[in-house]
Amino acid sequence: MTRLRLLVLALAALAALWAGPAWAGVRLECPGEVGQGLPFLARVVADEAIGAVRVQFGAVRARCVPRERNGRWEAPVLLGVGLDAAPGPVRLVALLDGPGGPLALEREVRVAARDFPEQRLKVAREMVHPGPEALARHELERAEVRRVLADTSRPRAWGREFVRPVPGGVSSAFGLRRFFNGEPRAPHRGLDLRGPQGQPVRALAPGTVVLAAEHYFAGRSVYVDHGQGLVSMYFHLSRILVRPGDTLGAGDVLGEVGSTGRVTGPHLHFGLSVYGELVDPTPLFTGTIRPE
Ligand SMILES: [Zn+2]
Repeated sequence: MTRLRLLVLALAALAALWAGPAWAGVRLECPGEVGQGLPFLARVVADEAIGAVRVQFGAVRARCVPRERNGRWEAPVLLGVGLDAAPGPVRLVALLDGPGGPLALEREVRVAARDFPEQRLKVAREMVHPGPEALARHELERAEVRRVLADTSRPRAWGREFVRPVPGGVSSAFGLRRFFNGEPRAPHRGLDLRGPQGQPVRALAPGTVVLAAEHYFAGRSVYVDHGQGLVSMYFHLSRILVRPGDTLGAGDVLGEVGSTGRVTGPHLHFGLSVYGELVDPTPLFTGTIRPE
């Protein structure tokens, strides 16, 4: 170890000691382990007022304005582990300002490998081998979706509850390794929920409609931005009942179940993007993730 590095470490230890007593009431909470393809909740909790919290997790940079709750200040941040994330430890860092000065809190989140089963489906040939026109269209749609998911500028609107968009059970789980007409394709990065044609589809949480369009594979689709990096997606709708710019409350109807796009029958494909990472929405409905 170099002398300079030793000096830096000693100074850091001194600074931590010095900042310690004033910051006894601040902590960073997060799970120690998260499986591939899953979202998780990290939270800074303080006994005193704190300023905005900046969170770093891998390549993700999140920002959260704390809110007072039961005499404490809380800054919850929803984060996600990608389906293709390498198993192993990832640093989670929260940087904040408060009465004791600037502070960095650090934890380690271990990414756990998961096994995903295969799924084999039969669909129309043009949904496995799109022609050049369809491919060009798909590329434009992908670029549009990437733009929408990359915008993480809206403040947090999600909070108290998450609403299951349709009451039906799961017909295809998140992460299935997919074969269409016997040919391997991208894994299933959403949750397929059972629902009859025309059943109302409800918004997961309060938010703003940021995209409503008919896409080649996703069919009629709605994207709702719930702020702080969280976007929910509703695919294969028969009808879209909202427009970009509309603000929705949790549970507001945004469309109806259908079978548009690449499907084998009517259902809702429900997707969730956390800072651009597509993750399994299931923990939001099972109580595993409770934001407040
Ligand atoms: Zn699906």
